Amino acid sequence: MSSVLFSVYRDLHSNINGIGRWALGSLILAVTAVLFGLREVIPDWLSVIVANAGLLCGVGLWLVGTQLFYGRKPSWASVSAATILTMACVSWWLLVEPAYTLRLTSITGCLLGLYGVQLLLVVRYGVRHSSTYFLAFVLLLQIVVLLIRGVTSLLPTLVQSNFLSPDLIQAIYFATYSFVTLLLALGFVMVATHRLNMELKWYATRDPLTGVFNRRAFAEIYQREYQVAQRTGGTLALLIVDLDHFKAINDKYGHDVGDKVLVDFCRRANAVLVNGTSMARLGGEEFAVLLRGVSLEDASAQAERIRLSLLQDGDNELPGYTCSVGVATTAKDGSALEQLLRVADDALYHAKREGRNRVESMKTSFEIRSAPE
Ligand code: GH3
Ligand code: MG
Ligand code: MG
Repeated sequence: MSSVLFSVYRDLHSNINGIGRWALGSLILAVTAVLFGLREVIPDWLSVIVANAGLLCGVGLWLVGTQLFYGRKPSWASVSAATILTMACVSWWLLVEPAYTLRLTSITGCLLGLYGVQLLLVVRYGVRHSSTYFLAFVLLLQIVVLLIRGVTSLLPTLVQSNFLSPDLIQAIYFATYSFVTLLLALGFVMVATHRLNMELKWYATRDPLTGVFNRRAFAEIYQREYQVAQRTGGTLALLIVDLDHFKAINDKYGHDVGDKVLVDFCRRANAVLVNGTSMARLGGEEFAVLLRGVSLEDASAQAERIRLSLLQDGDNELPGYTCSVGVATTAKDGSALEQLLRVADDALYHAKREGRNRVESMKTSFEIRSAPE
């Protein structure tokens, strides 16, 4: 599982944080499992002190990986402090005043903390997806296993009165713990893969500079909305927004500033658009906005809000700029987007000809026909 995580790390580490720590943690835990397995064969300092230190480091790295994965600050200091303190206690209770139960309780307590914080992170910051539920469930399972182990060690009489010998309990515990640890590594792979899928989907549908939809995704959104409008008899409106004299901005301030203006425009437009509105970059400095269930007047009012938003003070490092908007509503068949774009483009042409920094609208002669039942 560690090698799977390392291979995921090799492919994804530039985009997704935390996977490297998960992979390294898994590797350390795998080595640790071998040391625990050689308990009677190798010296105690190796099978107890080094193995337990490895266990805490591995799980500590997992916690840091989980923090990085969810964009939180890694708590290196607390994890290191907890590990060092616990290991100091373990060494004391092994070498100076041998006390098995105290050793076990301190290790279990530290592990409970490391897994508990991870569970809280997953519950709080995980996206709603089966991979998150799986990871949270397995973390919870690990915590339950540790709690049972802690309780049985604290109540030795309970154990002894049972049919199970301490050695058998130990073996069952190790088998369960190792299995759940494996499931946890699988959980990490699952959440990372899901994150990658979401990112790929994002890149496939977005304009990389501004983050708004690209033309292809916009056409798909339109198609979906169009079908809904056909079924429900609703209306659709389209705005085409074109920045005025954008070439002059590029020429005067440079392409970089031009790019920042494009990003600034999308931020401002998105801030005034109502929820459920889709915006796309059609190309260059031209954007499309799809509005659902609004009249031509309402759509023009939205366009006006976008235009006015550019006139307000904003980023002082950017030059002032304006836009012209063409508005159109409703179209009739499968080629509707092209039709609507053409009509909105005509309106935009009018706005440009009338002096720019203005909104012009045009109603098409079509209505969206209801689809046959
Ligand atoms: P108008 O008011 O008539 O729309 O004039 P305009 O200058 O905005 O229109 P024109 O089509 O002449 O110029 C558009 C410019 O947009 C030309 C091109 O170099 C620039 N452009 C296209 N894509 C990008 C981009 O991604 N970044 C930057 N900075 N400029 C771009
Ligand atoms: Mg322009
Ligand atoms: Mg243009």
